[in-house]
Amino acid sequence: MLEPAIEQPGTAWSGGGELLRKAAEGESVQLPRAQGLLPPVRADLHLDTVTAMMDRGLTWQDPSLEASLPALLDAGVNVVVQAAWIPRGVEDPRGVALGKLHRLRNMVQRSGGRAAVVTGPEQLEQVLRDGRLAVILALEGGTALTQGIATLDEFRALGLSMVGLTWTESSSYADSSAEPRTKGGGLTAAGRSLVKACNNRGILLDVSHMSDRATAETIAASRAPVLASHSNDRSQRAVPRNLSESLLTALARKGGLVGVMFHGPFLRAGARPNRTDVAAHVKALVDRIGAEHVGIGSDWDGRIRSPVGLQGSRDLPALYRDLKVAGLTDQELRLVAGDNLLRLWRQVWELRVPAAHRGGSP
Ligand SMILES: [Zn+2]
Repeated sequence: MLEPAIEQPGTAWSGGGELLRKAAEGESVQLPRAQGLLPPVRADLHLDTVTAMMDRGLTWQDPSLEASLPALLDAGVNVVVQAAWIPRGVEDPRGVALGKLHRLRNMVQRSGGRAAVVTGPEQLEQVLRDGRLAVILALEGGTALTQGIATLDEFRALGLSMVGLTWTESSSYADSSAEPRTKGGGLTAAGRSLVKACNNRGILLDVSHMSDRATAETIAASRAPVLASHSNDRSQRAVPRNLSESLLTALARKGGLVGVMFHGPFLRAGARPNRTDVAAHVKALVDRIGAEHVGIGSDWDGRIRSPVGLQGSRDLPALYRDLKVAGLTDQELRLVAGDNLLRLWRQVWELRVPAAHRGGSP
């Protein structure tokens, strides 16, 4: 069920029948998207559900998951990024990634047609128009890319569409915010090649978990806008995982996107935050970098300490209401709730270069 609070008059999804009726009665018919009418987009830019399922032996239906399939559908969420997370120090990180990508495909296949993996923005729009849940597969940890671009292409063939070059372990591509190397790290030469390879393929680049220097260098190296799928504003909560003012500015100038995440200690120090605190964090970030550059990337099912009143996908409609109370306009809320992700991927997609036209480039 869709939350009416974020729909605007004239652009609400009402189905083809309603459109025909309006046209027949001579009412003006507004098409909010160039390629046809889309429902309001409600996206979560980072979920760790497949890891929780595998660790705990659960199906996607299990009510103990924070972002179970029924919870997502009940909340009207229609786009999710599902991470294949690579733990530190594993012996076969590529094998871990392959296992999680296969399991993700499998859980979508078992959704009874309610969800579909999407690998580009046009496919995403079609799934949205069909009223299904679009699933974007992401890698969280560049250590899995053991053979560089060859491994990237292997994962891409399984539907991978977003790449984070580090988790808390620095990779041969980039430094992590948890262990920024002192030997002049940041984004390595191999990392630059991978950034280019992602650009050429229309794959989204995710800078969450990267060190400050690696983040700045990735933003600069990328031809296309990048996103931080689950990171907060360091001026509001000073931890290395959050983004500094200069990084937020650089990301936004490039057309990028920051997904505000819900881990309590990354939102504020001391007492556990509540949903209103999250709304205030989002509002302050919107005021700082503009609503075009802010989204939601909960990190649910990733062992976070969730805020009071925001303990799973079912609580997202309540957060949208709180965002309105905090002062977001309907238009700003539409952007933050999901439109920004679609816009970002369209831009990334337009800048890709098909294999036949790459020449010597990765
Ligand atoms: Zn993470």
